Amino acid sequence: MPLLVMKFGGTSVADLARIENAAKKVQAEVERGYDVIVIVSAMSGETNKMVAYVEGTSKLYDAREYDAVVSSGENVTAGLMALRLQEMGIAARSWQGWQVPINTTSAHSSARFMSIPRENIDAKFAEGFKVAVVAGFQGVSAEGRVTTLGRGGSDTTAVAFAAAFAAERCDIYTDVDGVYTTDPRITNKARKLDKIAFEEMLELASLGAKVLQTRSVELAMRYKVRLRVLSSFEDTDENSGTLVCDEDEIMESKVVSGVAYSRDEAKVTLVRVEDRPGIAAAIFGPLAEAGVNVDMIVQNISEVEAGSVKGATTDMTFSCPVNQIARAQKAMEDAVASGTISYDGIVVDSDVAKISVVGIGMRSHAGVAATMFKALSKENVNIKVIATSEIKISVLIDRKYMELAVQALHDAFELEKA
Ligand code: ADP
Ligand code: ASP
Ligand code: MG
Repeated sequence: MPLLVMKFGGTSVADLARIENAAKKVQAEVERGYDVIVIVSAMSGETNKMVAYVEGTSKLYDAREYDAVVSSGENVTAGLMALRLQEMGIAARSWQGWQVPINTTSAHSSARFMSIPRENIDAKFAEGFKVAVVAGFQGVSAEGRVTTLGRGGSDTTAVAFAAAFAAERCDIYTDVDGVYTTDPRITNKARKLDKIAFEEMLELASLGAKVLQTRSVELAMRYKVRLRVLSSFEDTDENSGTLVCDEDEIMESKVVSGVAYSRDEAKVTLVRVEDRPGIAAAIFGPLAEAGVNVDMIVQNISEVEAGSVKGATTDMTFSCPVNQIARAQKAMEDAVASGTISYDGIVVDSDVAKISVVGIGMRSHAGVAATMFKALSKENVNIKVIATSEIKISVLIDRKYMELAVQALHDAFELEKA
């Protein structure tokens, strides 16, 4: 039997009517002759609610219990979806992560897949079951504890199942009808893309476009999963949505294909750090150990102040998620206390956002940075930090200009035009 993976996100299973709507999409595929693995998220808002319960109970919570609590929303929707399908006369049952089992690492709240053995689900398909409804976002560690995969992790569950079961396609049903040139909530000029290359999607996702979890794109790229994003609220067929695929399946791509943003960034500057070999390692080692996700890094040209006893010093700036500032500051204070680094001051700017333009065409085209900077300067948006890679340019700016900057860049690169 050919097999499909269909994933429904939080808004697509937000209440019983939407679960029924999603179940009808599953029914249509069963009627076309597919066995289906359905991956469900928690009803929208549920995971946030449970995160708040945990944080309201314990500040330095036990990560194993956090996972036990926040994974539970998916159990509810998996059971309800199976029941709805049964009501429609379709042989279906639900599976929690440990029942499959979905084996993951023990890194609670950011676990990674180790293996997804097929036997149990295959045996049920062989018995005549048509649909396996699997709770997304969760797994089980070697210690037998429930794990979760990080926010948005059901996308990754879906792709991992598509790879493990050699699915014909992995369809991600969500509240938008595909991947757009930028978040359609920020500008109504955003244009839906029919296809996007894995590498571009990977950059967009990791730079903030939450339509797919970054890890899901990585897995799809590695295991050559045909990955599609489409709407759960519209009539869809095999040509709907956006296909995430290999670069060579796309005839011609624009130099820039999308703009991503990440709202909750912070910028930290260590002022006049002693400049000597090993200083970067002495700063970023402890930050990594403290679990701070450092993104952009800028080291200024060092200067030797007249009369300074310190020798050469430099300013070191990095960015990280705004909710990790306390951890970052503590890591730096501990490093100073232990004598591994010294600096004159630490300056934190917690009101910044990161805006990025992404496109594989950048590899062979000059001038993208110039166009980007000109568009921002026309809007009087000051750039605080710049970082580039082969197919992206990112800048940090004041958060209050975020929407304006996204719109200006969308216009400057004429992304509304195909
Ligand atoms: P789900 O609950 O289905 O997993 P998410 O909220 O995680 O859905 O992701 C879908 C949202 O991603 C959309 O509602 C949209 O606001 C946002 N988004 C951000 N960037 C993009 C983009 N480039 N294209 C489409 N959607 C985007
Ligand atoms: N429910 C989880 C979350 O809100 C996982 C997901 O929806 O993908 O992050
Ligand atoms: Mg999501």
